[in-house]
Amino acid sequence: MFKKILVANRGEIALRIICACRELGIKTVAIFSEADRDSLHVRFADEAVCIGPAKSSESYLKVPSVISAAEITNVDAIHPGYGYLSEDAYFAEVCEACHIKFIGPSPEVIRLMGNKTKARARMVQAGLKILPGSQGSVESFEDVVKIASEIGYPIIIKAVAGGGGRGMRIVRVQEDLKMAFSTAQTEAQIGFGVPDVYVEKYLESPRHIEFQIMADQHGNVINFGERECSIQRRHQKLVEEAPSVIVDQKCRMKMGKLVEEAMTSVGYSNAGTVEFLVDEDLNFYFGEMNTRIQVEHPVTEMVTGSDLVKMQIQIAAGKTLEREKNIQLKGHSIECRINAEDPETMWPSPGKITSFNVPGGSGIRVETAVYSECIVSPHYDPMIAKLVAWAPSRMEAIQRMERALEMFVIEGIKTSIPLQRKIMRDADFRAGQFNTKFMERYLKSN
Ligand code: ADP
Repeated sequence: MFKKILVANRGEIALRIICACRELGIKTVAIFSEADRDSLHVRFADEAVCIGPAKSSESYLKVPSVISAAEITNVDAIHPGYGYLSEDAYFAEVCEACHIKFIGPSPEVIRLMGNKTKARARMVQAGLKILPGSQGSVESFEDVVKIASEIGYPIIIKAVAGGGGRGMRIVRVQEDLKMAFSTAQTEAQIGFGVPDVYVEKYLESPRHIEFQIMADQHGNVINFGERECSIQRRHQKLVEEAPSVIVDQKCRMKMGKLVEEAMTSVGYSNAGTVEFLVDEDLNFYFGEMNTRIQVEHPVTEMVTGSDLVKMQIQIAAGKTLEREKNIQLKGHSIECRINAEDPETMWPSPGKITSFNVPGGSGIRVETAVYSECIVSPHYDPMIAKLVAWAPSRMEAIQRMERALEMFVIEGIKTSIPLQRKIMRDADFRAGQFNTKFMERYLKSN
């Protein structure tokens, strides 16, 4: 087992990883920017290294600084968390070259899945369905016109190197295509460093359902069931749950097996998520794969009784997944992403938290790195906490989440809590009747 791990992240996930290391008896090194000097991940790690100014590109994203911190503290491994360098194949390669274990899949698999058109093609080969669309990236306007007329409107233009729900353009009529195509290319260049875009059929009201994968380095690939992540705003998840109300055991077995086979075929190892868009006839279309731990992993942990972050570390250290093969789902779990933002306008709401009190009680779990009197920096992601509820049934989980949201006190900044309280009371949400259009419709009618 590793003796010391560097946590290449900040916020709640850095703390989550430190907790897992602590329980495994592994020493930890935190890295932090100048803005994060007083952060909890810095306080709870055994050692901490300042790696630069507040701006992420000059600190958390700066490979030479992260690697230097790892070298001077003499760690055996790096856990990248989510975001930042977690899906950077080059970073994983540098770790390998420096004989530091990168806790994640191989650089080759990260690179393959980071290119959405290559990932699509590879997953088709492996037996998954995809939505009709361009074969690879679309180079010219003539090509995009041709593909759009073949697959029919509406279509969606996406960045090949995209992520985080950004840089997507929906086009409903040909007149709008020219503008959308060039804007998408520009946004892809600015956001992801490459202008390449691809096209696929746009589904009006799909569900977003994803499968959690854990794979060891000895060829064992195990799915840990699905998560429903259809409650989104601007393509960003807001509420997630496990299991999905529309997935029965037969469907879970079938899709789980397909996903396991696909992951085996690419030699996957460590934690990963295979995302699908699902239509009304329960067709599962592969969308993309995230080659890292997800924000919403706790809901899977709650229904499977496992610790996925510990498992990631153990897998990287060579553990064989054996016992995990007969994983069973128990009860229901829901997660609300608590964002520092105005629930009406959705504008970020950074600033000083003047009062902070987390809910507790049976079946409630809070993942956070903020505290009373701390400053929520405008430099980073506005998600400041994750509130997770578990209960034997979905309705009890909703009721538990509702009361926990009510007891969650965060003063001094605005948060998404009032909005999430309303979602928990919504009749369609309660009935399990929703899709990715839920929030749009909800905000229009409320
Ligand atoms: P990202 O990597 O940026 O998260 P995804 O491909 O995972 O991008 O898409 C994010 C979300 O955007 C999906 O969950 C869904 O809500 C919406 N979306 C993406 N592609 C389509 C599509 N073809 N039809 C309908 N909605 C889509």
